[in-house]
Amino acid sequence: MFHRVRPNQPVAFGLPDAYRLRGTSLTPEELSDVLDDARTVVPLRWVEEALVARTTPPPGVVLTFDDGYREHLDLVAPMLADRGLAATFYVATGLHAGGGAVALVDAWYWLLDHAERTAARVPLPSGGVFACPVDTLEGKTAWVCGPPKRALLDAPPDHQRRMVDALATSTGAALPADLADRLYLRPDEWPLLAHGHGQLGAHTVRHPRLTTLDDDALRTEVVESMARLRPASESTAFAYPDGDFDDRVVDVVRRAGATSAVTCVPGNVTAGSDPLRLPRIFVRPPAR
Ligand SMILES: [Zn+2]
Repeated sequence: MFHRVRPNQPVAFGLPDAYRLRGTSLTPEELSDVLDDARTVVPLRWVEEALVARTTPPPGVVLTFDDGYREHLDLVAPMLADRGLAATFYVATGLHAGGGAVALVDAWYWLLDHAERTAARVPLPSGGVFACPVDTLEGKTAWVCGPPKRALLDAPPDHQRRMVDALATSTGAALPADLADRLYLRPDEWPLLAHGHGQLGAHTVRHPRLTTLDDDALRTEVVESMARLRPASESTAFAYPDGDFDDRVVDVVRRAGATSAVTCVPGNVTAGSDPLRLPRIFVRPPAR
């Protein structure tokens, strides 16, 4: 499981960017090393076919890239093509360049990376306020991986907006109007990711935590995202945002006709694996 691929350049206060601190960004050189070291790379479709037939999938690894970032086409696709490798790209169909929304976490990270003041404070859904520096490695790491980030992901949508607004106000940073254009691919570019053995997969519409949604909202997020990609993708693979799923979520994904769904639970796929609860390994930057 990969997310962003971009140079490791310091941002506000000379700190690493938020993706780097979270472990969701590799440099192009680091990805290149991972791809060169990868054991046999197999297309996801081969794994899906093996599981339908209840046979052991071919040995190797499946490569997945989440969230439809611009560099997946500009940088990652050429690196894969050079090596003749296939990958699956999971896109949230409401988050895109050319009029799409921006994911909550991308907005959060942008504000932290562009902070002009040294500390920030946000209201927590449980009551109270979280206040902490944003100009130290420890402080920024708390904003990216700690209590306020967890609270943000679990908060109701109206409170999520309040938290993002409060982070913007207290850091003195602002979200650019064209942030979605800077971050993501356009929908007409998505099919280009699926050339060769590559595959497109659905990752909901707006990337919510699915277990927090009511039945109607859950169904909309799953069904609409899969329907939007189906013309471009003969099979519809799915990825649970933030790896968040339960039996109710899996049932909705199954009824929507997903051929597979990936989690963030580490492990290996075997002949008996549930195609709608496939394990994935979070590839983080190497420790220095
Ligand atoms: Zn995601």
